Amino acid sequence: MNRPDLSIVIPVYNEQETLPELLKRTLEACRPLERPFELILVDDGSSDDSARLICQAAEEEPEVVAVLLNRNYGQHAAVFAGLQQSCGEVVVTLDADLQNPPEEIPNLLRETDAGADVVGTVRTNRQDSWFRRKASALVNLMVRQATGVKMQDYGCMLRAYRRPIISAMLQCQERSTFLPILANSFARTTSEIPVRHAERAGGESKYNLWKLVSLQYDLLTCMSTFPLRLLSFIGSLIALSGFAFGVLLFVLRVVYGAAWAGEGIFSLFAVLFIFVGAQFVGLGLLGEYIGRIYHDVRGRPRYFVQQVIGAEPRTGIMENTVRAKQQ
Ligand code: UDP
Ligand code: MG
Repeated sequence: MNRPDLSIVIPVYNEQETLPELLKRTLEACRPLERPFELILVDDGSSDDSARLICQAAEEEPEVVAVLLNRNYGQHAAVFAGLQQSCGEVVVTLDADLQNPPEEIPNLLRETDAGADVVGTVRTNRQDSWFRRKASALVNLMVRQATGVKMQDYGCMLRAYRRPIISAMLQCQERSTFLPILANSFARTTSEIPVRHAERAGGESKYNLWKLVSLQYDLLTCMSTFPLRLLSFIGSLIALSGFAFGVLLFVLRVVYGAAWAGEGIFSLFAVLFIFVGAQFVGLGLLGEYIGRIYHDVRGRPRYFVQQVIGAEPRTGIMENTVRAKQQ
């Protein structure tokens, strides 16, 4: 088989109900494209029959590649393992539960062919609970503000990335990541298209409330260390208002006499505010240092060269990936 030009990466965690249909529909959507492709199924330590089904598919279908993780590491880690394995010029990720229709893949490819580094998707008619929809609207708004990339929907994992972005992501060593945001931080051009969204075809959502909260923390910390800075800011505000309150009390005390100010009890509050504020400022300062340590420990590449012109060709795609693994 030719070297794949397109890689489809799907994380699978206890999805035995939907796997057969997923395989069928994905292969049917990709075969008519007439570009060599690989379908990488990553088993994220499933305890049901998924791993066996994946291995069986890898033996029967020439395009299917099975990657089995030894235990459950979470959706984003599983996708990362798939990216590590992939070699296509374009990589498309999607969920295994058929909420993202594989038939949308050609539409994503149209965007990457037109030059987009990252293609996101907006779920029209989203089939999730009211709580999930509202929560994700809030998160999307936050991410837009923090990253400045105007994408509407960060939660949908039906996405396409071009090889330079994948290579850049593979060089990031951090453990907790939220892939769409990591990808956008390396993308020069992004685009977003509407896609259909279906109800889960079988099984149950693998995210309970606790896992969702933990994912939000991954998202927040992968994005910025701004919350740490917020501590200093809030602290300064508290300290300043404490100080202003103290001045006000002093003035009123002079004007109206000692009885007015509750014999000094309010002044205690003013002093307390100033100290509480100062503590927050101290915490925020510590946070600034921790933020810097955090950035350094993650060891993300400081920049990523897109192209070098006029030099001896040395670094092919594969070499880049291999080097990322060795680091
Ligand atoms: N998934 C995974 N590991 C996990 C949790 C989920 O690989 O620990 C996969 C799961 O099999 C599915 C995708 O991630 O393909 C999205 O999961 P799910 O549909 O449960 O999330 P939701 O749609 O509820 O956000
Ligand atoms: Mg789902």
